[in-house]
Amino acid sequence: MNSRVSIIKCASYEQELVCAKVKEAVDALGGIAGFIQPRSRVLVKPNLLIPIEPESGVTTHPQVLRGVIRVLKSIDCQIFVGDGPCALKDIPEKVEEVYERCGVTLVCREEGVELVKFENKRWREKFPLTTWLDNCDYVVNLPKFKTHNLTLLTCSIKNLFGLVWGTHKIELHKKYFDANDFAKMLVDIYAEVKPALTIVDGIVAMEGDGPATSGKLRQQGLIVAGADAVALDSVLAVIMGLAPTDILTTKEAFKRGLGQADMKSIIIEGEKLQDAITKPFILPSASSFKAKLKDMLPKFVLDVLMKLIKFYPYADRIKCIRCGACIKGCPNGVISMKPKGLAFDYTKCSSCFCCQEFCPVAAIKVGKGWFAKLVGL
Ligand code: SF4
Ligand code: SF4
Repeated sequence: MNSRVSIIKCASYEQELVCAKVKEAVDALGGIAGFIQPRSRVLVKPNLLIPIEPESGVTTHPQVLRGVIRVLKSIDCQIFVGDGPCALKDIPEKVEEVYERCGVTLVCREEGVELVKFENKRWREKFPLTTWLDNCDYVVNLPKFKTHNLTLLTCSIKNLFGLVWGTHKIELHKKYFDANDFAKMLVDIYAEVKPALTIVDGIVAMEGDGPATSGKLRQQGLIVAGADAVALDSVLAVIMGLAPTDILTTKEAFKRGLGQADMKSIIIEGEKLQDAITKPFILPSASSFKAKLKDMLPKFVLDVLMKLIKFYPYADRIKCIRCGACIKGCPNGVISMKPKGLAFDYTKCSSCFCCQEFCPVAAIKVGKGWFAKLVGL
């Protein structure tokens, strides 16, 4: 079955320009009423990873949020905005700081919509999700277009991880430490939530060691929208210079029939896909080797190599401000603070790179194991 994705160019975060382009992206798919009944209760879920300013490029930009709020207001929806930002153990208390610094508090106040906290949970089979899913008729998913050291891409499917209640995100990282298993768990969440519409902030995207301060910003100038998150992530993979199924969540969701990853069956509205592609993205250190080798080696050889090739985090002692965020965010208790700096117990490390995600000053770097060095990666 065909899926539709709209691609709209948007050169900056200038308020009225973004609002017009968000509307254009939705209108290119037939308009908001094709996805959401007028006067519904809608949960809008941006990506608010850590307490950091919008200019960092780490979080969904508040002007994109404003554009989506205005589109939903046009059909008289009751709008609730919320996220469960990252997995730090003390983040529930810090959520107001996250909302404030990411710029969403101001936008919600100006637009007169309610900003909510994910304080209560309801258990599904495998994980507890916020009860705001029960309180609302629809979810509108608002991810940021970024690379990710564990999942390669974080966007339409991965953004829904923030709906997992509070610190249980750490437990899921611990339980699903293998990238394939983690991807399957993310797809379970997608199957459970099934957002009515996803609108991607791809105006400033991120490449390299994303998804936080260690990544590199790149001006991509795009807003991308659609109801099928699998198709959206497929389109973004192509823009990155990859095949859709290079992204483990896309591969798994497509296999389960949850969405479209066959580019021949994805109808692009707005801009032509070719016009949205510039140069390939710099991939995260921990996954770029796979992209480099995948066309050179048979799959079974690559699978064996992947088990041998290890990447691990270490701290840049000059950059590190000793804030302890990485220690709190590590699901496996690998990191401790010593008089001379951070110490890592690599026997317990699962290479999830949560520590890199939570570091506010890009002090966590990616090191290579002996085999990766041996084969020149
Ligand atoms: S040290 Fe970093 S990469 Fe290793 S388990 Fe902890 S958070 Fe994950
Ligand atoms: S590495 Fe980053 S997160 Fe960890 S203590 Fe240093 S500054 Fe904080």
